Amino acid sequence: MVDVLVIGGGNAALCAALMAREAGASVLLLEAAPQAWRGGNSMHVRNLRCMHDAPQDVLIEAYPEEEYWQDLQKVTGGRTDETLARLVIRASATCRPWMRSHGVHFQPPLSGALHVARTNAFFMGGGKALVNAYYRSAQRLGVQLRYEAPVDRIELDGERFAAAWVGAERIPARSCVLAAGGFESNRAWLRAAWGRNARGEWPADRFLIRGTRYNTGVLLDQMMAQGADTVGDPTQAHMVAIDARAPQYDGGICTRLDCVSLGVVLNRDAERFYDEGEDFWPKRYAIWGRLVAQQPGQIGYSIIDAKAVGRFMPPVFEGVQADSLPGLAARLGLDPARFARTLAAYNAACRVGHFDHTRLDDCHTEGLAPAKTHWALPIDTPPFYGYALRPGVTFTYLGLKVGAASAVQFGGRPSANLFVAGEMMAGNVLGQGYTAGVGMSIGTAFGRIAGRQAAAAAAATVAAA
Ligand SMILES: Cc1cc2nc3c(=O)[nH]c(=O)nc-3n(C[C@H](O)[C@H](O)[C@H](O)COP(=O)(O)OP(=O)(O)OC[C@H]3O[C@@H](n4cnc5c(N)ncnc54)[C@H](O)[C@@H]3O)c2cc1C
Repeated sequence: MVDVLVIGGGNAALCAALMAREAGASVLLLEAAPQAWRGGNSMHVRNLRCMHDAPQDVLIEAYPEEEYWQDLQKVTGGRTDETLARLVIRASATCRPWMRSHGVHFQPPLSGALHVARTNAFFMGGGKALVNAYYRSAQRLGVQLRYEAPVDRIELDGERFAAAWVGAERIPARSCVLAAGGFESNRAWLRAAWGRNARGEWPADRFLIRGTRYNTGVLLDQMMAQGADTVGDPTQAHMVAIDARAPQYDGGICTRLDCVSLGVVLNRDAERFYDEGEDFWPKRYAIWGRLVAQQPGQIGYSIIDAKAVGRFMPPVFEGVQADSLPGLAARLGLDPARFARTLAAYNAACRVGHFDHTRLDDCHTEGLAPAKTHWALPIDTPPFYGYALRPGVTFTYLGLKVGAASAVQFGGRPSANLFVAGEMMAGNVLGQGYTAGVGMSIGTAFGRIAGRQAAAAAAATVAAA
């Protein structure tokens, strides 16, 4: 029988597997995806948020514990466990040498992102290179890897892990780490959580999933059915507005669009529906997924003119382009009369002051509902561009409740040999909201803890036998 069974194949699972193996345990990792698609949402990531008290290789200045903690409190609105959050923060200061020892390399952000250059260490080659490095290291250390091995059942003996089932195959182990992500790719679950709206639509049917198709929440559901304690709101997901041309799964970061605050966003009826200039885009992009989800047909259209070009990171895929506004309406399939009315009303309401996209400037609208409160310039300079937007789900918030040892709990009692890491428990630290790089901080910290704990639990079982 193997000592430690790790279920999942992303960052948290790999950190757990490597730590357990380094502690001397025999380890088997079961990844639902085929080898080519291994790595879960972790293959799409770019960076890790790191506490540091002085400049460190790719990180400039300092990002002390207290500031990181305040940032977390702000984005979660207090829905965070301070003990666990501080544990994650401190671990983020010390985990990188270990990551490097397993082949992960870091680089500074490419350009124009000084605020993240202070707080976030970027992975050279992105998340794909990170998971590939961890898989290589795991293989070298003798971790057994199985792909296309979706676990569909967890067998418990009271509150202890007994075995995992892949179809009809029973896989027993002395201890287990669950690291199988959220349930964002479970269409039926999303549908049930979002329900039907007043227009008779099922909004979740039109959601795109930014990451892997394999995070279906089967194990989360299993554990809940067997009485494990949970944390987080099942109806909540981190959702951004992304390029509507993105594939149903795995579009990753190349589907992002950063031009919303430089123009207007219309719905299917060619009406504006929210203040596009409310705040800086990095602080607002995560509310736009939900805003678009509430629109008829769950679609929006970001409209800009030539003045905006060069002021935002160019999207990977070109937008729809036209030399006139009626031409753009036609190409986007929007009602030309309503489109013209909305744009004319917006242009007439713009009060142009000193345009400055690096601060909350004084360019705003007057007498328009909804207002655009900053960066409001008339859309009047051809060529004009339009990008269709859809809600893109990053991850769900519901997870399993843990303490500092990352054990799955039943009625507040921690299991002796069943642990959980990554997105499956991230809700303990990140009850709502998001700030870049925290997902990887949580997964790395708790993946490593869970791996160490699982190895110790397995050793204890052997000693007791
Ligand atoms: C486009 C995108 C960009 C992101 N960028 C960042 C970033 O830059 N920084 C950051 O901190 N966070 C980022 N995130 C969030 C980040 O992906 C997560 O916080 C982190 O990767 C989660 O790691 P994980 O190991 O818990 O889950 P995942 O990496 O999703 O891994 C889950 C694994 O479990 C496997 N699995 C699922 N069900 C089963 C089953 N039943 N049996 C066996 N295996 C199963 C899956 O195949 C997958 O391998 C991003 C997310 C997305 C979608």
